[in-house]
Amino acid sequence: MNPSSSRPTWAELSRTALRGNYRVLRENAMRADAEAVGVIKANAYGHGAPEALAVLIVDGCAWFAVTCLDEALLLQPQLKSHRTLILSGLFDGEAAVVTRHAFTPVLGSLQQLAWLAEAVPPAEVTPSSAPPFPLHLEIDTGMARQGIQWNDTTALAAFAAQLIQHPQLLLEAVMTHFASPEDPGSTQTAEQLERLRAALATLHEHGIAPPLIHAGNSASLFESAQITALRDIAQQSGSRLLLRPGIALYGYGPYPAERGLQPVLRWKTRIAALRTIAAGEAVSYNATFRATRPSRIALLPVGYADGYNRLLSNRGEVLVRGQRAPIAGRVTMDQTMVDVTDIAGLAVGDEVILIGEQGSERITADDLAALSGTIAYEVLCAIGTRVPRVWV
Ligand SMILES: *Cc1c(COP(=O)(O)O)cnc(C)c1O
Repeated sequence: MNPSSSRPTWAELSRTALRGNYRVLRENAMRADAEAVGVIKANAYGHGAPEALAVLIVDGCAWFAVTCLDEALLLQPQLKSHRTLILSGLFDGEAAVVTRHAFTPVLGSLQQLAWLAEAVPPAEVTPSSAPPFPLHLEIDTGMARQGIQWNDTTALAAFAAQLIQHPQLLLEAVMTHFASPEDPGSTQTAEQLERLRAALATLHEHGIAPPLIHAGNSASLFESAQITALRDIAQQSGSRLLLRPGIALYGYGPYPAERGLQPVLRWKTRIAALRTIAAGEAVSYNATFRATRPSRIALLPVGYADGYNRLLSNRGEVLVRGQRAPIAGRVTMDQTMVDVTDIAGLAVGDEVILIGEQGSERITADDLAALSGTIAYEVLCAIGTRVPRVWV
């Protein structure tokens, strides 16, 4: 069960769940004449990118997205014949490696375009049979994070002019990123869609017609208004549409069960020790938990250095023998204590669920996120490298 560590704390990942989630997303994308990009950045949201990638490749996923060059390089042997988007653009000194491996950078500035042009041999020395090197351009339509601002017509015109001077490069796609796609009550996505239209019109005026457009994250795939608008924009510009689901691949996002998505990850540990403490005794640093009765305390070999958030101290629960046991006192760097006074028949070695189900009880990454003031994304990404990933 836990081949790479003898310490019994591990994450169990389900290939079946990942495959099922991908198929739901692919079908939703196909209904919009679109293709789903498999977003496997941040080690596949903490799940383990090589294994997630292998599952998605077998299922026919052709496009993948990572954050940075380092992530792409780690996966390079598997990614060879697949398209790999590098979402965070290009940093100084990376262009030669990016082009050598035929990764596809999402550019957001003229500076990045200049670095790329420098790294790709100019057209006159390229054999005429060599296709131009594809790049993608991000338009900032409201995230204010990266990309050329949608209404910066000067920068868009300059980008187009630079491209015309570098026929060895091809602007294959224009993309944007939505800030509030999971909120159907927000008008922001509609506004961002209009801004994307405007930026595409500007590029058209300067002779640029990208074969592809991409936008939309997991939530977008379930919001028909967004999908319809994106399909309309793509049709209008004569482009194919790609959508970029991430968190939904791993079974999270809004209403996952209603949407046919299943969590891929379970996080487990085992009871390492049991002790009984007298009423009035304290547990863990600074005595933030004090027993009000003789109490049975179980030791779990997991702590905040494993990504088990310290904000769960005295708030979180785990599952053992199908019952909920509250965390007693502070989560420490490497260990956590739980109050198991009300659970009979426990033994050292019993399996404990941090995320997952046992009997009729269930704890999700959303539950831990709610208790620690964050989102499931962060809970999953935070699971430490010390926790072995076991694919089943
Ligand atoms: C992370 C990311 C996604 C995926 O978002 P989810 O909310 O996980 O579906 C899509 N596009 C970009 C640019 C991203 O950074």
